[in-house]
Amino acid sequence: MRKKLNIQLMGIAILSMFLTMMLLLIVYYELFQQQVLDELKTVTRLMGSIENLTEYSVSDYQTKFENLRITLLDENGNVIYDSDVNAEELDNHAKRPEISAAYEDGEAYAIRKSDTLAQNTFYYAILLDNGGVLRVAKEARSIFSVFASSVPSLIFIALSLTLLCMVLAHFLTKSLMRPIDSMAKDIDHMREVETYSELEPFIETINRQHEDIIKSAKLRQEFTANVSHELKTPLTVISGYSELIENGMTTEEDTLRFSKEIHRNSTRLLTLINDILRLSELDSGEQSLPFENVDLYEVADNCISMLQMNAEKHNVTLHLYGQHTLIKANRQMLEEMLYNLCDNGIRYNEPGGKVEVSLKENDKNIILMISDTGIGISPENQERVFERFYRVDKSRSKKTGGTGLGLAIVKHIAEQLNAKLLVDSELGKGTTITILFEK
Ligand code: ADP
Repeated sequence: MRKKLNIQLMGIAILSMFLTMMLLLIVYYELFQQQVLDELKTVTRLMGSIENLTEYSVSDYQTKFENLRITLLDENGNVIYDSDVNAEELDNHAKRPEISAAYEDGEAYAIRKSDTLAQNTFYYAILLDNGGVLRVAKEARSIFSVFASSVPSLIFIALSLTLLCMVLAHFLTKSLMRPIDSMAKDIDHMREVETYSELEPFIETINRQHEDIIKSAKLRQEFTANVSHELKTPLTVISGYSELIENGMTTEEDTLRFSKEIHRNSTRLLTLINDILRLSELDSGEQSLPFENVDLYEVADNCISMLQMNAEKHNVTLHLYGQHTLIKANRQMLEEMLYNLCDNGIRYNEPGGKVEVSLKENDKNIILMISDTGIGISPENQERVFERFYRVDKSRSKKTGGTGLGLAIVKHIAEQLNAKLLVDSELGKGTTITILFEK
């Protein structure tokens, strides 16, 4: 780009330089021609004003003005006198353009090429009182000769200007590229670089993308650290208890207790790994699952049946309100989302509490609400519960088999289904999660 810009700037400069020189030459030659003709006209008129003009009075002028050819003609175009050639050798001149025009109009001029390309002959003719014509001619340089003689200086000027243009084009390109160069070198401080307004949108976009990249790299790093930590705890328990059993130092009763712990922790490990895999699957966005017409009511009903036992264990009742509603979505994702939300509603409930799933619709949305009469989420935690591994009460979450990833998965799925998630919760009263599906 830099080279291209440089070459284009140079090209424009050289072309305009060449055109200017040519135009100047033409204008200059026009002026030069005009001047020669003016001089010739003055001399011719001066001579013409002499009474009874003869070859003797004419020759007097010739000595005063060099390089003039003077011709005297009678009223029929016959040459009476010519300063350069013997008059008898010359044929009738009546047909020459300047002479025939002078007979007619009183005065006329003509410019003709000489034998050599380098010279032009300028003629000026006037009608005399005696009916004859006086013609004065002068040789002057042609445009080719003017051009040829100026070629060395033109080349010199052109070369110097080209050199100047090269230097200027180089500096101009450099100053145009400077902000881009500095930004590329230090993308973190690109906002501090002085630029021009045309670059602003470009900088904004790069900046935003750069910040996004940094943010997601940080999140990924945090996630990896969290995953390692979460996996470490159950594995430490499993490894410790199994080592005790292996050494044969435990009573039968202990062995049974330790085995239960090992089982519980390995189940926890499996759940954790499943959730982590699910999240990374959703993150990669590789699988674009098919969308189909799904009856949301049926999905909710299935979900409630699946969670019935769990609910009874927690002494919580499950209820479903609404009617059959078709929605275009991925069934598996809907099931997963509803399961996670209802499961939370049961796990973070009080004994004797309830979880209600209700299905409504208005002209814009299909609305799915999952509300519980549980412990609630404080306002400052309502945003954060969707973060990976964020739990308000860690021990309660663990005791009930939580991984801290359920709501992160729900948020991800909602994004993929183009649904909006709203949280409404009050500590000690309960939580309502609303999902708005676009119709
Ligand atoms: P977990 O596996 O710990 O339940 P989630 O991602 O599902 O993880 O939820 C994150 C945190 O949000 C939970 O640890 C809990 O503190 C809080 N939470 C989620 N749902 C509810 C709810 N219905 N009522 C109260 N707190 C909730």
